[in-house]
This record gives sequence, structure tokens and C-alpha cells, in this order.
Amino acid sequence: MEKLIIIKYAELNTKKSNINYFIKILKDNIKKSLDGIDANIHFDKGRMFIESSENNYNIILNKIKNIFGIHEIIIGYKLLDRDLEVIKSTVVDLIKDENISTFKVITKRSDKNYPFDSMEISRKVGGAVLKAYSNSKVDVHNPEKEIYLEVRLDAVYIYFNREKGIGGYPVGSLGKGILMLSGGIDSPVAGYLAMKRGIKLEALYFESPPHTSDQAKNKVLELAKKLSSYNGEMKVHIINFTKIQEEIYKNIPHEYLITIMRRMMYRISMKVAKRNKCLAIINGESVGQVASQTLTSMQVINEVINMPVIRPVACLDKLEIIDIAKKIDTYETSILPFEDCCTIFVPEHPVINPLSDKCEEYEKLIDYEELINDAVINHNVVKISNKNKYEDLL
Ligand code: ATP
Ligand code: MG
Repeated sequence: MEKLIIIKYAELNTKKSNINYFIKILKDNIKKSLDGIDANIHFDKGRMFIESSENNYNIILNKIKNIFGIHEIIIGYKLLDRDLEVIKSTVVDLIKDENISTFKVITKRSDKNYPFDSMEISRKVGGAVLKAYSNSKVDVHNPEKEIYLEVRLDAVYIYFNREKGIGGYPVGSLGKGILMLSGGIDSPVAGYLAMKRGIKLEALYFESPPHTSDQAKNKVLELAKKLSSYNGEMKVHIINFTKIQEEIYKNIPHEYLITIMRRMMYRISMKVAKRNKCLAIINGESVGQVASQTLTSMQVINEVINMPVIRPVACLDKLEIIDIAKKIDTYETSILPFEDCCTIFVPEHPVINPLSDKCEEYEKLIDYEELINDAVINHNVVKISNKNKYEDLL
């Protein structure tokens, strides 16, 4: 009998013809996350199996719990001898140290030629447990212990506890996107939700030194590091936005500061995205949250680019976003009080319904093409993974 980890796929089961494509990416992602651990991974259309030595199993569980595409993670046992008497004695032996009171046996039989059907197997194995442990009782509705048996062609799999995975599609299976990552609460949550749909992320952060501090940048890198535990590793593009922002501040009527600033951010994001083969921009905009997030503002800001913008938190309430931020452990970092480049140049009365014509007219007052190209060409890239500290990479 071998101990092993059994992984059940999440929504992948709906991908009939190209399921192998998704499973292979999931396998690669798992393999990368287990870098340095001696583990053997194999799969079929319904399950993935990881075999390793006994003392690695908890480490492996810990490493794969943040991998999208996994519906359930199970520690189980593979029994090559499928004889019913062997199954009975193995189950009885596996639970010998647990003083179980109530239990239930649940059997799935994919080998339809096996001499007993599922009901008979459950009954007979249940009978063996009752006989071995006289204090135990069968309870089919609310058992203390569930005993799962899967009778397959190659072996019988036995397991007890099923742990939920985080679902979604394997990261990278649906291409790459660029996440506009600020130090706020919303954009890390937006990134998490995009990764959940299988999008691999690169992040992009606009800084405005000396108006913004190194602490603000480190906060964003810390958030990127947290997100990298789902993404494998994370490239963070750091764009110096100071000149552009100062030019806007000097030359443009203040009610349009934010609208024009965000149009510049979108233009830069699209250029960086295209240079890095990212197919979409992802950001943390949420309808109605601030003046730049009314539908009119979003339309006027969006019109300067021609690539999809995905806004995963667009229709969530702030409290719903905060709930997710707490769950993925970004909240405490996001609420640290360092100024972001947007907050510093916020005018008193930003326009709520900006006009495209006005934006175009005002933008003629600055030589933005050159400034944008400069910012794109001369930006820094930091590679972050959950393994190394970002301080080592700066
Ligand atoms: P967040 O909580 O994510 O900061 P917010 O509610 O503060 O969002 P805005 O400041 O209007 O909203 O920003 C909207 C989105 O634009 C952010 O969610 C983020 O995706 C992007 N963004 C804003 N500032 C920056 C920045 N300095 N660098 C990169 N992206 C940014
Ligand atoms: Mg913000």
C-alpha cells in the first residue's frame, strides 16, 4: 500500500475536448511550486496523484493549497491488491488508532467488472469495521468519520478527509494580463480574482518620487509577493510617473487632473502590456467608488486604449472586497498609511462627468507622447517570488 496525495480538478471537468491542455498546465504549476521536493506527479483525466516520502506530505499540502485549478486535496492510500478481503483488513487497520463512534462507507466503482457493486462493497467493508470495533455504529446522515473507497482498474484508493482546494483555472491557462497594482485594497483583490480565472499576471506600479516614498513602493512589492504565491512568481514593472504627473498638475485645469492622469496611466499600461505579451489590463476599479469610477469617467478614460480592461471588482461592494482582501491576507498591508501617487494630486472637485473633447483639448497642452515613451522605455522591473525576499532583488 502506498500513501499519496489525490487531487481532484476544479471546473476543468467542463473542458471536454481540451481538458489535457488545462491539466498539463496545472501539473506544471504544481511541479514548480514543489521545486526542490522529491515528488512524483502523474495524472489521468479525472485525478492527479502526487507520491513522495512520508515526511514531505504536509509540506506538499501547504505548497499546493494556493494553486488554482484544484477542487479537492486528499491524502489517501493506493492499494494494488483489489481483493475485497484485503480492502476490509486495510481499512480496519488504517483506523485502528481512532476511537470512532459513528461512520459511513462511501464507495465509487469505476471498474464496472469488479465482482461487487458499490453498495455491496460499502456494506461488506462497513461490516468489517463494525466487527473489529464493537463501539462503532453506522450513521449515514451525520457520521463522525467518512470512509471513501474508489475502486478503479489499476487499484483501490482509500481516503478519509477531503480538503477543499481554491478552485478556478490553472494560472497561465488563459494567457497573461497586466495588473495595475496600487497599494490600495482593491487592486490586489482584482489580481487574485483574475488569477482565479487562469490569467497569469505581471504587475505594474506607478510611483512619483519624491512625492511618493520608498515605503509606498515597498508596500506594493509586499502585496506583489503575497499575490505571487498564486502566480508562481511575479514581475513588477515600476513606472516613474513623476514628470508626467507634474506636467499635468502645472498645465491642466484641476478638475480634470484625475481624468487625464488616468488616461496617461492607461496609455502606459497598454504599451507595457503589449511589449510583454499581456492580452488584457486588469485593475481594481469599482463602479461608483470615486469620481474617476463613474460610468462616464470610465468611458472617457478607457477610450484612449484598444485592449480589454478587466475589472474583477467592478460590481462588488467595498465590504465584499475587504472580505476577500482579508481572506488572501493582503488587507493588513493595504491599509498601511503610505501615500499613493493618486492621493497626492487629488483636486478638491474632480469632474464626475468628464468630456472627451475637453480631455483632448487639455492634453494638447503637454507633450505627453514623449513623456510616456520615456517612462515606458526607462522603467525598472523587479521579479518577485514567494521564495525570495524582495529586498534581495532591489
Ligand atoms: P485601490 O484600492 O486598488 O488603490 P482605489 O479605490 O484607490 O483602488 P483608484 O486610486 O481610483 O481607486 O485606482 C483605481 C485603480 O487604478 C486601482 O485599483 C489600480 O488598479 C489602479 N491604480 C491606481 N493607482 C495606481 C498606481 N499608483 N499604480 C498602479 N495602478 C494604480
Ligand atoms: Mg488607490
